[in-house]
Amino acid sequence: MVRGERVVLPDGIRPAAIHIERGIISDVSGRADVPAGAPLHDAGQLLVSPGLVDSHVHVNEPGRSEWEGFASATRAAAAGGVTTIVDMPLNSIPATTTVAALETKQAAADGQSWVDVGFHGGVVPGNLADLEPLCRAGVLGFKCFLLPSGVDEFGHVGEAELAPALDVLRAAGVPLSCHAELAGPIAAAADELLGESPYRYLTYLRSRPPGAEDQAIALLIALARRQRAAVHVVHCASAGALALLEAARQEGVPVSAETCPHYLHFAADQIPDRATEYKCAPPIRDADNRERLWQGLTSGVLDMIVSDHSPCAPELKRRRRGDFLAAWGGVASLQLALPAAWTEMRRRGLAASRLSDWMAAAPARHAGLGKRKGAIARGLDADLVVWDPDAAFQVDGGRLHHKHPLTPYHGETLFGVVDTTFVRGQIAYRHGQHAAGPTGRFLLGR
Ligand SMILES: [Zn+2]
Repeated sequence: MVRGERVVLPDGIRPAAIHIERGIISDVSGRADVPAGAPLHDAGQLLVSPGLVDSHVHVNEPGRSEWEGFASATRAAAAGGVTTIVDMPLNSIPATTTVAALETKQAAADGQSWVDVGFHGGVVPGNLADLEPLCRAGVLGFKCFLLPSGVDEFGHVGEAELAPALDVLRAAGVPLSCHAELAGPIAAAADELLGESPYRYLTYLRSRPPGAEDQAIALLIALARRQRAAVHVVHCASAGALALLEAARQEGVPVSAETCPHYLHFAADQIPDRATEYKCAPPIRDADNRERLWQGLTSGVLDMIVSDHSPCAPELKRRRRGDFLAAWGGVASLQLALPAAWTEMRRRGLAASRLSDWMAAAPARHAGLGKRKGAIARGLDADLVVWDPDAAFQVDGGRLHHKHPLTPYHGETLFGVVDTTFVRGQIAYRHGQHAAGPTGRFLLGR
């Protein structure tokens, strides 16, 4: 049993006791209702929240395991209160675009996951016939790019490939997540930036204009409307797209969207020149844009916050020279998503129950896991994070469990200290220590 004075339940935060049998929540009762002799974890005044579900993580194993890996990523997840990750299909080799590649990835992940792990498949040129078999093999969603992804083995697609792909995915009831930037506005921006310093963040920011996002999101909305298929916008960074998303949803178009902690915490004018650890695509934009993303969350236009944890081998970040245009784009943040988001929520007076909506319930539903994950309720997996929302800590990149220490959060003071993380009732992490062996399982099938 786990009990506490402040348990985040679907209908509010109150004292409660969570009864757990074989990893499943069998009941939620009054705090005092604890059978004599039952093993009890008393969280006292700490918050007990549903374990976070992070549906956007690049583990990169196999093939680029020098960038990240299942053991390091899932240990970081557990230490950050994340009890489920859904791995992205790219940056691993092979990319997860066939059933054989999915099996290769599962073999690589086997026996080294401290949290539960699901998988995305990829939609790439030429793999239309693989989509339905991937659904049957248990992928929780698909991912595609509308412009070059950054790695050669994961090609990008256009309307010609997406229309038939969406027909298959609609029939299977699986959503398509899309990297929403178009190449045209980026190419136009590149022409204007000739001769500008690649060491300045502003140069990088101007190289990925918001119009590239807004136009891509408009295209995706049109596709979702026409194909009547669920389309999900990953890492929305342009507040200019919020009005499009809001109008589409009011019209009943099946489109959803996520944003990430780095877009909600940082702002472009704070990013030092040469600090390539901040480089991601789309880029971190200005402070006004950040506030509008928060409004998008509170008004419900943006559904969820997920990390888009996407590290690489340190030399690819080109940190010594600080060349933004040559550096790999991707922010390392899996272990810090909870405190980064919470620090900003606390500053804005937002309740911890909303953090669970945005970082557990909504991504669980998106990944087709709503009946198993994302809330503290009878019948769901006993995935819990016990944490102190009022305690602060200073981030030391070298002490994180990510494979590499480089992260833009290094040195930041954040609120929200994870005390204990339970995965299906088992302690996966507590007070700086992980369970001796892997506590995670694969999640196959929505
Ligand atoms: Zn990503």
